[in-house]
Amino acid sequence: MRAGIRSHREIARFDVETDVCVVGLGAAGAAAAIDARAAGADVAVLERASGGGGTSALSGGVLYLGGGTSLQTACGFEDTPDAMYRYLMASVGEVPDEPKVRRYCEGSVEHFEWVKAQGVPYKETYYPGISGEPPTDDGLVYSGAEQTHPFCDLAAPAPRGHVAAKTFQTGPLLMQHLCASTERAGARVLGDHCVTDLVLDDDGAVVGVVAENFGEVRTVRARGGVVLTTGGFVLNDEMLGRYVPRALRCQLRVAGDGDDGSGIRLGVAAGAATLHMEKASISLPVTQPWGLKRGVMVNARGQRFINEDTYYGRLGERALFHEDGRAFLIVDDAIFEEPDYCKEIAAVGETLAELETELQLPPGSLDATLSVYNRHAEHGQDPVFGKRREYLQPLVKPPFGAIDCTTENCLYAAFTLGGLVTDAEARVLGPSGDVIPGLYGAGRSTAGVCAGDYSSGLSLGDATFFGRVAGCHAAGGGS
Ligand SMILES: Cc1cc2nc3c(=O)[nH]c(=O)nc-3n(C[C@H](O)[C@H](O)[C@H](O)COP(=O)(O)OP(=O)(O)OC[C@H]3O[C@@H](n4cnc5c(N)ncnc54)[C@H](O)[C@@H]3O)c2cc1C
Repeated sequence: MRAGIRSHREIARFDVETDVCVVGLGAAGAAAAIDARAAGADVAVLERASGGGGTSALSGGVLYLGGGTSLQTACGFEDTPDAMYRYLMASVGEVPDEPKVRRYCEGSVEHFEWVKAQGVPYKETYYPGISGEPPTDDGLVYSGAEQTHPFCDLAAPAPRGHVAAKTFQTGPLLMQHLCASTERAGARVLGDHCVTDLVLDDDGAVVGVVAENFGEVRTVRARGGVVLTTGGFVLNDEMLGRYVPRALRCQLRVAGDGDDGSGIRLGVAAGAATLHMEKASISLPVTQPWGLKRGVMVNARGQRFINEDTYYGRLGERALFHEDGRAFLIVDDAIFEEPDYCKEIAAVGETLAELETELQLPPGSLDATLSVYNRHAEHGQDPVFGKRREYLQPLVKPPFGAIDCTTENCLYAAFTLGGLVTDAEARVLGPSGDVIPGLYGAGRSTAGVCAGDYSSGLSLGDATFFGRVAGCHAAGGGS
């Protein structure tokens, strides 16, 4: 798909005139449109599909929010913006965007009230003992690695996964309400409009867009600004191959049809910089059911590389990016349960030596790893990776098995985290940190709060949060 720029001089007359033009109606786009309208702007939303929803409408619908939201309080949990900030700064990658993280944590309580005000229902109940989407209609869940090493020692843990009141996969419900709210707010939603170009004035400011609508060219003039909320690029093989080649090997790319990076390419054509393009959320749900966290995960050298009780997104990122997607979860007869997702068994043996041979691991490596692990697990300790006591059990009961966690034979689910550089005001920046006038961005078309390692709910959380910031700014309302 084309993603370029056009000069305003080429356009004699614009088909549509508006204050704010939002490109893409997923979670970020809806939030931008709603708050731009609230700030008094005339808003047009251009969506390439026939209707809104995007990847957001296919998602689990978990929003990572905290700092003491009304839902957390109703469920009896204490949380503070500072604890949330500490967790995120420690967990979202090597180079977190501090101003964005700070703003997100400080505004999180208010943001949850905004989400509820759009009509999204939440049941004020907590689903215990899980890190991910609950299989119930409970509203609150742990959705990251807060309770595990090293984060439990760095920040007071609190459940921050906010899930709408529906059993399993609440993204459709979330987007049903956000799209309805967008229409109710009075934004003009133009479906089947695929934006192909940004329109620039003589000073390089973005003043409109060009779109394709059933083969016709349509032009939109945006007096206040254009907000790019077009999602990530996980469906674009060329971009994925260039920036995150290992993600090409993932069995599942979690995305709606629009995730081809068009918004990122539009921004770059207008002079924007990109960041964290090599980062992706990689889920590896091998420890489900959760009893399998008692297993021992090893790489192709027979060595452990992570605490197995951590969030499945961290398992996936470490296994794919650091171990090249070559890993096995070792279990014994005492802890084995039928895995929910990763069902391939790579090897079975009466002894660890047999297993090692079948897996083609270096001789003695598995035995060495398990003897250290078992020695400490017997005392409820894991001095190597800090796995929690409740998941520590020596693996001694034959037969032994290896659940296959290689990219070829196991579910790795990927979506991209990198994108256009924006500041905490959601303004798109050029390579020198200069603001590109008239251009804003939010959601997975931008490099957001997650600069690497992910926790469930951070994508929709930061998409809606910074979508609102972008909409407000483009409307001239500041933020
Ligand atoms: C199965 C699944 C479960 C998930 N669970 C969660 C979860 O629980 N919590 C969480 O935080 N994240 C989750 N994610 C990830 C999350 O859904 C996405 O990262 C997030 O929805 C991105 O939001 P967005 O607004 O940036 O993009 P999107 O929701 O993808 O919206 C972008 C929109 O822009 C449109 N568009 C693209 N290009 C153009 C163009 N050139 N012109 C016009 N329109 C365009 C697209 O058609 C689309 O409608 C999940 C994803 C999947 C698939």
